[in-house]
Amino acid sequence: MTDSLFDPARIAALDAADPLRGFRDEFHLPLHDGAPQAYFCGNSLGLQPKGARAMVEEVLGKWAHEAVEGHFLEPAPWMPYHALVRDALANVVGAEPSEVVAMNSLTTNLHLMLVSFYRPTHERPAILMEAGAFPSDRHALESQVRFHGFDPETDLIELRPDEADGTISMDAIAAAIAEHGHRLAAIVWPGVQYRTGQAFDLKEIARLGHAAGAIVGFDLAHAVGNVPVHLHDSDADFAVWCHYKYMNSGPGAVAGCFVHARHAHTARPRFAGWWGHDQASRFKMDGKFVATPGAEGWQLSNPPILGLAPLRASLEVFSRAGMPALRARSLELTAYLEALIRARLADTLQIVTPGEPERRGAQLSLRVLQGRGLTGRAAGRDLFDFLATRGVIGDWREPDVIRISPAPLYNNRADILRFATEVAAWRGAA
Ligand SMILES: *Cc1c(COP(=O)(O)O)cnc(C)c1O
Repeated sequence: MTDSLFDPARIAALDAADPLRGFRDEFHLPLHDGAPQAYFCGNSLGLQPKGARAMVEEVLGKWAHEAVEGHFLEPAPWMPYHALVRDALANVVGAEPSEVVAMNSLTTNLHLMLVSFYRPTHERPAILMEAGAFPSDRHALESQVRFHGFDPETDLIELRPDEADGTISMDAIAAAIAEHGHRLAAIVWPGVQYRTGQAFDLKEIARLGHAAGAIVGFDLAHAVGNVPVHLHDSDADFAVWCHYKYMNSGPGAVAGCFVHARHAHTARPRFAGWWGHDQASRFKMDGKFVATPGAEGWQLSNPPILGLAPLRASLEVFSRAGMPALRARSLELTAYLEALIRARLADTLQIVTPGEPERRGAQLSLRVLQGRGLTGRAAGRDLFDFLATRGVIGDWREPDVIRISPAPLYNNRADILRFATEVAAWRGAA
């Protein structure tokens, strides 16, 4: 059994029989010594879909040949360009088209959502978040608490991990909501935790949060394109995410935002801009803001068309693959990675990410067990650098974690076997 896991011929046969195998050829795989890298960093920067270049060049061509007319001329006029990504994006996140919009960057969208949905009062001033959140999220939440004149010491409640590997149980979340519920204005929670790779039950968090009288918003940076999120059914009030990780839309890509349909006509305050104004009267330019119903009403500016073009290409790939099939393949790939580690590498790598498939996405966070590496440095960084010199690309989190994320669109079992083989080679030499 163990040996068949490591049998390259058997692994190649499984890859060849995989129904999604063809998608790998639709991405630019970076090379190492003339052969593709084993690239496991799609949780940080997803690879470029080959279709992206044509989409970007189409915009450049339109600009060159049509200039201002490009706003109106088919195909793909710029005026309604965001709508070209809307339906496919709604599909990926399990939302209605009117609930999603591609705009700005993740942290900007988080602030815009908090402006509308975090309305603290003296009775209910607090936000519940996870301790150890991605720093930008913490900065955004802390600054929002301060902006409203409240004190992060008491009103930014950070829930500490209660499980051995730094993950958080649903029981702990429920207990925190029960304890602080009467003071909570909002809960902001990740879909998939960036450091541990833990996936959360969004629907249950939203249910508990709403029952306590709080607004519930999600940061899906590591969840979108990775796990099915069913945003509409989760009943979240809002969600934000970026498109450069599993969504493969390029560095600093235009981000995403979800506002639940029940808020489509909200009277909540918002920071407004002309692109959120009702489209029929936007160009009357009369100075009175009338919001477009739904998520599009939060747009500020006319969007960067060159930035949206790669997202179009990426969503075209996602539409053909489909999230259910991608998730099925992702479960297989990550289970294979886990099996290899458990079979041969358990003395070197400790899996931090939860073992239950429904509590994780593609990523496994691997703690490198203590020891000295080839160069006498701490083992973790030494192994990480060794892998990079062999064309195996993960990413590094201080002090001792390597994150390995097999992306089901372009990674295969052979990549995963290569990772395990190189870790074993390093261990043999160390
Ligand atoms: C990647 C990531 C960010 C990055 O924020 P930007 O505004 O896109 O720079 C923020 N939060 C989380 C949880 C992330 O994973």
